[in-house]
Amino acid sequence: MENDTIRFACNGCGICCKGRLIPLTLDEARQWLQRGHEVAVVLEAFDETTWSSEPRQFAHSAQRAVAVTSGDAQIRVVAVLAGNALTQCRNLGDDGRCGIYEERPLVCRIYPMEINPLITLRPADKVCPPEVWEAGEVLFTDRVVDPILADQIERSRQADRDDAQAKIALCEAMGMNVAAWKGNALAVYLPDREQLAEAIIRYDRAPVAPKGLDWKVRVETPALAQRLRQAGVALDDQRSTGYIFQGL
Ligand code: SF4
Ligand code: SF4
Repeated sequence: MENDTIRFACNGCGICCKGRLIPLTLDEARQWLQRGHEVAVVLEAFDETTWSSEPRQFAHSAQRAVAVTSGDAQIRVVAVLAGNALTQCRNLGDDGRCGIYEERPLVCRIYPMEINPLITLRPADKVCPPEVWEAGEVLFTDRVVDPILADQIERSRQADRDDAQAKIALCEAMGMNVAAWKGNALAVYLPDREQLAEAIIRYDRAPVAPKGLDWKVRVETPALAQRLRQAGVALDDQRSTGYIFQGL
């Protein structure tokens, strides 16, 4: 088993706190907004054809998604709420330390470990400097070794499942109804902080199920656009959009 052993010792460099979006549970997003920070909304769509050779990946993703109607097609949409750290996280201090260390989100506690059980941890895929993989505690063998870390990963997965309906209902209430196609691009909304906070408060007072209607998909890859159009998926072809479209 030693060949599969991955050791890790975080050096506190803070690279993972910069240049990215920080996925948040719905409860963490409430706290993030209350601290006065922005929360982005990333929307991804997929269907059964997305993982034709990997049905376990479809099953995993479907648990975090909501079935919606797009044109004449049924697709699934995942909404990810994410702290905006595209420059750097607002909680990162000048001393390089996390200013909310005791209350930091689950994903910050879990990184660099993977949350998706079907993705293998590969140090080369992570932003951590190479030397942190050369010593330290055993992070991973054929499984997560630390029971606290394993519990955090399971709580993150459970929150993804528990929050899925509420997040899609929030998106619908705020008119965020265009997703990118999984693996092809990201559609990133940057809603007004106060409007998103108010929408969450309204939802908390009177939770509603998503309607699941009138969703669209943004695609700029001709072959994929043709395939989705043939499947009846409604594509968003507006020149001016309320979201950032980022090809992968
Ligand atoms: S909350 Fe803390 S640990 Fe997480 S990204 Fe921000 S500064 Fe880094
Ligand atoms: S990038 Fe890696 S080594 Fe640096 S603070 Fe983040 S987890 Fe630790």
